Amino acid sequence: MPGNFFRPVNANWVPRRLAFFFTIFILFVAALLVRIINLGIVHGNDYAQFSEDNYLKERSVDAPRGSIHDRHGTVLAYNRAMFEVSMSRGNLTTEALRASLDRLGAILGADLSSHYQAVAGVRPRWKSHVLSRRLTLDQITAVFEQRFHLPGVSIEPRFRRYYPLHSTLCHVLGHVGKITTTTWERQYRAKDYELDDYVGVVGLEAAFEDSLKGQKGQEQIWRTNRGYILGSQVIEPAVPGAEIFLTIDLQFQRLAESLLVGQKGVILALDPRNGEILVWASSPGYDLNRPTQIDDPTSKPLINRAIQEYYRPGSTFKIVTALAALEAGWTPDRRVTCEHRLFLPNWSKPFTCLGWHDSVDLVRAFQYSCNIYFYTMADFIYSRDPRDAGYRIVRTARRFGFESPTDVLSREIKRRASGFGEKAGALPSLETLRGERGSVLYMGIGQGSVDVTPLQMLMAYAALANGGELLVPRLVRRVQSEQSDDAFSSSKIVKETLALNPEHQRAIVEGLTTAVNSPGGTAYGAGFLPEWHVAGKTATAERESEPDAWFIGFAPAEKPELVVLVLIERGGHGGKVAAPLAARLFRHYFDSTRKPTTIALQ
Ligand SMILES: [Zn+2]
Repeated sequence: MPGNFFRPVNANWVPRRLAFFFTIFILFVAALLVRIINLGIVHGNDYAQFSEDNYLKERSVDAPRGSIHDRHGTVLAYNRAMFEVSMSRGNLTTEALRASLDRLGAILGADLSSHYQAVAGVRPRWKSHVLSRRLTLDQITAVFEQRFHLPGVSIEPRFRRYYPLHSTLCHVLGHVGKITTTTWERQYRAKDYELDDYVGVVGLEAAFEDSLKGQKGQEQIWRTNRGYILGSQVIEPAVPGAEIFLTIDLQFQRLAESLLVGQKGVILALDPRNGEILVWASSPGYDLNRPTQIDDPTSKPLINRAIQEYYRPGSTFKIVTALAALEAGWTPDRRVTCEHRLFLPNWSKPFTCLGWHDSVDLVRAFQYSCNIYFYTMADFIYSRDPRDAGYRIVRTARRFGFESPTDVLSREIKRRASGFGEKAGALPSLETLRGERGSVLYMGIGQGSVDVTPLQMLMAYAALANGGELLVPRLVRRVQSEQSDDAFSSSKIVKETLALNPEHQRAIVEGLTTAVNSPGGTAYGAGFLPEWHVAGKTATAERESEPDAWFIGFAPAEKPELVVLVLIERGGHGGKVAAPLAARLFRHYFDSTRKPTTIALQ
């Protein structure tokens, strides 16, 4: 029998233990009583005040702004969490407010005294004024440690827009900016924005503001009169903004941007089958994370040169003159003898060519870019009907989309894209051409008062490439949110049909193919491989000091998949400067689309 299995009975044990617990209990009750007396009697008034001044308030919660991606899903713009320190007046006295600001200033290493008026003036008094948006981890820790000596101060996580690739695709993405007092009163207050909010200022950030911004939520907070937040509760959760997927191919884009470093100019690439833009580079650009630090009136980095700047198209305009002449009865085999100069009666200056080309037909004229041939074509149009004064060229140019915006983004946002500021271009009026036979000739080679944007020129060549459909350029493939998923099909949007005679189209494209692939062609030797079948046109367009260098081409000529435009401001000769850059882009395209091993770009 296990005698030691039970505790041996000890007569004295029970009362001794009971006495011990009883003593503890008495001490505990006594301590509690002291505490109650202390709270209720000695400090009673203070605590009554405390509970009355705690208040329950509702405030908005930021929604994370939607991110932006390239066509393969690489992130181009997203949000980073930042810690923001702010202060609200609450019931603080002037002295307490100043002391708190000074103490916070010491922690942040900044003089915050200039913020005093702003904090004191915020209404209602519990609302806060932001003092700093980028706290370091050390600063956050220090503020937290000293929080009981920093009445009115609070730290909140906020979303901040971030562009991981800095200046890449800057003119398309655009940036966000803080709402100023004036714009808030004028346009944002009624739309539920608050004064410290950020909104899209230019580019896609502005055009898609309504989709990207999401919907703010509401929370209830419980604060003390000294500004400490005791607790919060979400009443209505914030809805994140929609994510946007672009048609842009980031690898292709970065190659284009690398070719423009140190230059002013534009590179664009597009699929002429559906109007999807693959590359949109305008140089110089700027760091999207520091948009306010730009101040350069000469290089104008904020200008989106593809749509906000006018250029003389020079010889790239010759496709318009050629089509107008062919439609007026000119034939492709008609020959013109180029002896370098052409004289018009009653016109003081001779019209000149860059070379002496002898007898050329349409294909040779494009191959050498013979000005005399196109002057003669323009004069042919003029002489057919002097009352119309060569205006046929202007009407043909309009069919190609000149003198009107390309309507980029018009389908995606169902209105003119705010923040894109697209220029419409300008062509000579009938009045200016009447009685000015010489002006018609100048227009025939893209000089005189012909103002185009590079994107218009790209779309004109895309129309020639695809057999006569003027497409709307597209930048967005998909807008995806919690509520909806707008996948824009890859089908094209035809703005206008040019009604091109296939024979005319073939003759012009043959001329452009010869210019790239045959010896003596203006872009021959620039690096285009014959198997790519590139058709293209160079231009060396007059400008005050140095001409602008252009190249526009598409490939394969018989069934085009890609149109590329390169424009270098004051670059010099189109064939020597712009065409070699375009060849690099075609090489990238054919290498990455035709060789399966290099398709996985990331
Ligand atoms: Zn010539």
